[in-house]
This record gives sequence, structure tokens and C-alpha cells, in this order.
Amino acid sequence: MSTDIQKVMRNIPQMNKLLGAPWVAEYEDVLGRDTVKFLLTEMLTRLRSEIIKNPDMAFSTDSIIKDAKKLLREKAASTLRRVVNATGVVIHTNLGRSLLHEDACRAAASAASLYSTLEYSLQDGARGQRNEHVEWLLCRLTGAEAALVVNNNAAAVILTLSALAKNKETVVSRGELVEIGGSFRIPDIMALSGTAMTEVGTTNRTHLKDYEAAVTENTAVLLKVHPSNYRVVGFHSNVPREELAALAHKNGLILMEDLGSGMLLSLAEAGLSGENDPTVEESLKAGCDIVTFSGDKLLGGPQIGAIVGKKELIDKLKHNQLLRALRVDKMTLAAFEATLRLYLRGKGREIPTIKMIFKTDEELLKDARAFSRKLKAFFKNTNIRTYSIEVVKSQDTVGGGSFPQSVLNGYAVSLRIPEMGSAGKLAEMLRSPERTTPVITGAAEDRILFHVRTLQHGDDINIIRTLAEIIPQSQKDNEK
Ligand SMILES: *Cc1c(COP(=O)(O)O)cnc(C)c1O
Repeated sequence: MSTDIQKVMRNIPQMNKLLGAPWVAEYEDVLGRDTVKFLLTEMLTRLRSEIIKNPDMAFSTDSIIKDAKKLLREKAASTLRRVVNATGVVIHTNLGRSLLHEDACRAAASAASLYSTLEYSLQDGARGQRNEHVEWLLCRLTGAEAALVVNNNAAAVILTLSALAKNKETVVSRGELVEIGGSFRIPDIMALSGTAMTEVGTTNRTHLKDYEAAVTENTAVLLKVHPSNYRVVGFHSNVPREELAALAHKNGLILMEDLGSGMLLSLAEAGLSGENDPTVEESLKAGCDIVTFSGDKLLGGPQIGAIVGKKELIDKLKHNQLLRALRVDKMTLAAFEATLRLYLRGKGREIPTIKMIFKTDEELLKDARAFSRKLKAFFKNTNIRTYSIEVVKSQDTVGGGSFPQSVLNGYAVSLRIPEMGSAGKLAEMLRSPERTTPVITGAAEDRILFHVRTLQHGDDINIIRTLAEIIPQSQKDNEK
């Protein structure tokens, strides 16, 4: 090491000095002394190797302390944080999909903090089955003979194919070989399950005769997959479930449907319906022997995978070794049971996901007007002179791969502040990790949009507080 570099290195503060600083103490409470030391050591080591690479690098004790504070502040806060969803996407995959009803939250908290009958039969004073808490409810709500729950719908599909079609063939339409959310690809999932995939038809059209020609003595399952957020429009056709069921049963095969979102009640009244989107009950009625779906998409519950259908098939799944690795946690199970009971009592529309989808034009317009008044009142007290706040019509979406073509007509409050730079810049400031409550907004050309459909109780205040963190208050206000 040259003497020049050694001189520069001497300007780096001693670890002991850093650790002794009063501002470090508050982080020791949150992170523990060892971790604070570890993080600062790592930071200084990084700095030293940067200096060796670039000896003319500018730094000062102040800049090091500033960086250290920033690092410790970042690590002291959880990265899994609440945010405001102002995007109008109800089942926002990146923001946690479905929000639970308060009954489900209470049930999860109780299961988490207290002993329970998770796997205990009070009747027998002996081991019970965790699946039984929800099986009968799923059967009631879908008309199925039997049901089983696992970690998520991906697990449900893997378990089902593995238990029913391993080392055999599964026939699937080329129009349904989809990739969902980047990591769930039907061909890969089938390979993982150990079933040989027989593709039939073309991307846009698959006929019954295609399936018929593909059936061999080694075929076990005809698989139908919900195309999620992918749609073929124009010249296309697929085979109705009833016809597939007849073909399957004539040949002693199983008709399985991966429904993806899985609805327990029809959303036709909200303008959402189509042959691709039956309720779980409709899919079973049409002849599917086994159906899989997610708990945290349109159902509005916790992350879970539900498998419903014929008892003899579900029994095979219950005895599969994979189940042990895919089983559901007690908090999830409790939240799921509470969610299903809401449907049982005819209160499905009170579940947050469903409620947001069913919000009326009048409600949304009223919410948007009230929020725009609050925003205007806030801006009156700032130094910002050029801004525009308007209530506008918005195009909200269901999200989660459900009803990709259907727009939910809604309302948003648009905000434009030319003197603060582009809309993209403003959106970035609102969602910055520095914010107490980051706000994720929608965008339209030169303005940001607060879609009111996905705002939760109190979010109007949260948004204004977040704005107040980036927008200086007016002189007049400061003097008070
Ligand atoms: C979402 C989806 C899945 C994956 O479900 P997870 O609950 O996210 O595991 C599988 N298949 C379809 C058709 C889907 O829409």
C-alpha cells in the first residue's frame, strides 16, 4: 500500500469511536450491539477497498457518519411494510393480493397466540386432522364430495398431478400452456409433478377430436387450465367442460381444472363473467372431477391452495407423501376457515376483495370528491403555487390474473405539480422507503392518480401525511 493511500485511510474513523457515538446507541436497542458492529465493519471494509481502487475518492468523516446513519436506519426498519395501494388494482400481486376480513384477522391472531385444536380431537382426546376444520365448509360452498388445502395453488396443482398422473400422461391444450407471474409455467409444473405432457390443438383453437386423438392407454388426466391474464381474442375456440368430461369418463380418465382464482360466488353483477370464469361449483357441476384454486385471489382469503372434487381422488392426495411438505400453517387455516364462514352466512360481499370489486359508481365518486377536497385544503397551506387536483374517471382492474379484459370503471383524484418535476418523479418520492407510509400511485401522462377503489379506511389522511413529508409547508404555517 502506498503511503498516500495510508494517509487517506487514516481519515477513516476508528470503529471504537463510531461505536461510542451517542446516535449509535439508539440503533443498538433495535439491532443489537453485535449487528451494529457487524454492519459498520462491513461498511468500512467496503470503503477501504473502494479507496484502494480509487485513491482520489472524496470522503470525509461527516460523509461516513451520514452513510452509517443511513445504513443503520435502513436496517432498523422492517422491509415488509404497510403501504397505501392507490393503484386501483384490487388483487395486487406485489402488494399482498387479498386483504383479510377482520374476522379472519382475529382468527389468525388467536391461532397464533393461543393453543388450539389444530390437530386434536376433543371428542377422542387424541390426534385429529388439520384439514377437517375447512373440508366440510369447502364441500358446502362448492358442492364437492371432499376437499384438501395446501400451501398455495401452485402446490395444489403439483400435488394433484403428482398423485394422480405421475409416470402417466396428461393431455392439455396448447392454448392453455401459460406462464403465470413468472415462476408458474404449466409445462414446468407438469415436469416437476412427473407427468408426461401431451399438448393438443393450436394456440388459438383446440377441438374435442384433438383431445380424443391424444388419449392413449397411458393417459391419466385431461387438464384444463385457466389462462389467467392471457387471452386469445378473435378466431379461437376451446372445448366446453361438459364435452371434455364426457370424453374423460368414457375412457376412465380424470378431468382436472386449475381454476386459478376460484370464485365461490358469481361476480356477474359486477360485470365480471365469462365461460372462462365459472364459480368453483359451476366447474364441478360441468363435470370436472377435481378443481384447484387460490385462497388469496378472488376468494379474498389468506394464501392457500384448495383442491376440491371426488372423494376417491382427494383420498389419494391425502395419502401422498408430498402433502407433508405442502401443508398449511395454523394461522392461515384459521383465517381461511373464518373467510369461508363469511360465505356460509351469506356475507361474502363483506370480504374486502369482493367489497372493493362491488363498489358502486356513486360510492367511488363520493370518496373521490371527499379526498380531492382534503387534498385541496392541504395544498392551500403549502408554498406550491402551480398544482391541479381533479376528480377523474379511472379504469381499475381486478388483478391477480383474474378478468384481464374487464375494466372496473372507477374514480381517481389526479394530481399534477409541474414545479416539482415529472409525474414519475412525484410517484417515486411518494413511494420512497424514506416515507413513514409509502404510497403507490397510478399514473396517467403528466399526472399521478389516486384510485379511490383500493384506498382503505384512513388512507386519505395517510396520503396527506406522506405528501407533507415531501412538500414544504408554507411560511405562514411555519410562523404559527
Ligand atoms: C394464480 C394461479 C396459479 C398459482 O396460484 P398461487 O396461489 O399463486 O400458487 C396457478 N394457476 C392459475 C391458473 C393461476 O391463476
